[in-house]
Amino acid sequence: MSVRAWIGLGGNLGDVPQVLRDAAAMLSALPDIGSLQLSSLYRTPAWGRTDQPDFVNAVAVLHTERAPMDLLDALLEIERTFGRTRSDAAGDQWGPRTLDLDLLLYGDAVITLPGLTVPHPRLHERAFALVPMLELDAGIVIPRIGSAADALARVDRAGIEALP
Ligand code: ATP
Ligand code: CA
Ligand code: CA
Repeated sequence: MSVRAWIGLGGNLGDVPQVLRDAAAMLSALPDIGSLQLSSLYRTPAWGRTDQPDFVNAVAVLHTERAPMDLLDALLEIERTFGRTRSDAAGDQWGPRTLDLDLLLYGDAVITLPGLTVPHPRLHERAFALVPMLELDAGIVIPRIGSAADALARVDRAGIEALP
């Protein structure tokens, strides 16, 4: 049975709009991933560590029969293809990167595995993910949190602008 999964895309080094579109195309081309839709791209202020360039963020929604961990593996593989390295893993979180792909939602599943937490634990605090999700599905619900629109109303969405 195929599941509707949501992927967060972001980056702030290099030609990010091009990388995000290419990464979405690469994901969409995988044999067991179907009907991928990419949101608009948004310029967003850096989150967590503000001493770095603005990000470009988007989300993609797709249908897949892949297990969640297999889907995450595909995302990490695509990150590597676009040059993201994790050699500096300890200091890398929330830092500058060419491409970051996160598994935001996997149907209505709640998953706690070593290396994979779904829904993404910070999704409901992040306007840069909620805004593009709501663009694609205004009624989207985050398991254990509730409506994404309500979550967005509780956070700061200043500075998030769709790119032309
Ligand atoms: P954040 O998770 O706050 O967005 P980040 O994307 O910068 O931070 P990374 O360094 O890219 O964090 O990821 C660290 C690890 O998080 C990954 O190696 C992965 O195993 C794990 N992880 C756990 N849950 C998820 C998820 N839902 N999506 C992507 N990675 C996840
Ligand atoms: Ca991330
Ligand atoms: Ca990540």
